[in-house]
Amino acid sequence: MRSTLKIFLYQGTSNGEVDFEGLRSFLQSLLPDISVQLREEFISHFALPFKEEEKKIEEVARTLAQAKVRNIREKWKRQEPLCGEIAYERRYLFTPSQRPSGILYDAWQLQRILRDLMPPSECDWEKIHVAITNQLFGTWDGGNFHYHCRTAFFGFPSLISTTGMVEAPAKPRSFYLKLQMGIPREFLQTEFQGRFLDPGDPRMTEVLKGYVLQALFYHLTENPFCSDPDCRLFNAHWQEELIRAQLRDGADLCPVHRETLKKILRGEKNPR
Ligand SMILES: [Zn+2]
Repeated sequence: MRSTLKIFLYQGTSNGEVDFEGLRSFLQSLLPDISVQLREEFISHFALPFKEEEKKIEEVARTLAQAKVRNIREKWKRQEPLCGEIAYERRYLFTPSQRPSGILYDAWQLQRILRDLMPPSECDWEKIHVAITNQLFGTWDGGNFHYHCRTAFFGFPSLISTTGMVEAPAKPRSFYLKLQMGIPREFLQTEFQGRFLDPGDPRMTEVLKGYVLQALFYHLTENPFCSDPDCRLFNAHWQEELIRAQLRDGADLCPVHRETLKKILRGEKNPR
């Protein structure tokens, strides 16, 4: 029986960085009874109907400018953004593929802004919205008193960042040691080649498969992660863990999660 679940993947990265059709067909073949659809970038998709409404567009740009983390050592608090910051957001609202990825946003704020853009007809638990973006977001760590970049931030909608994949999981310790010893970064990039993701890395699409699966498991079981380092749901804190979970030959879900997925596909409730 065809499931009523629908997965929407939003294409918010620079041109050519991700093979979205490849990602969609991977999910579609894994989940044959679930509809998997591609949509354009999240904000332009949902803001398009009121593109001509000056006040609304200005408000979206203002809230985005407000969501920016201004100091990574200070917890986000609401501040009135500068005109230039609002203008920056506005410039890229409908041209997301040209948008630079230098700003860090507070993940909670960014998710709330995206959620507020969705009409009620899109907000039900049968629809899984996964906003894939090249923008960087992070969460406040109250223990260490600073922001951490995140690869993904699950919820409604789930956010996955290709820039976060490069920036959030740590590179090998020896990379940082050698950097401190003064060895040029370009030299180290060659020495450590393949051991971490670089911006625009051609392996991004393959890595995204695992993160979209984590978003799916979050949505269906409330737990996106697995403790098995060979499972696509492993919560990687190091680049080498990410590469092992998502890029080794035959990367897949572990047997437990393959079984859980089968139960989901059979329509069993609470397949935890
Ligand atoms: Zn697993």
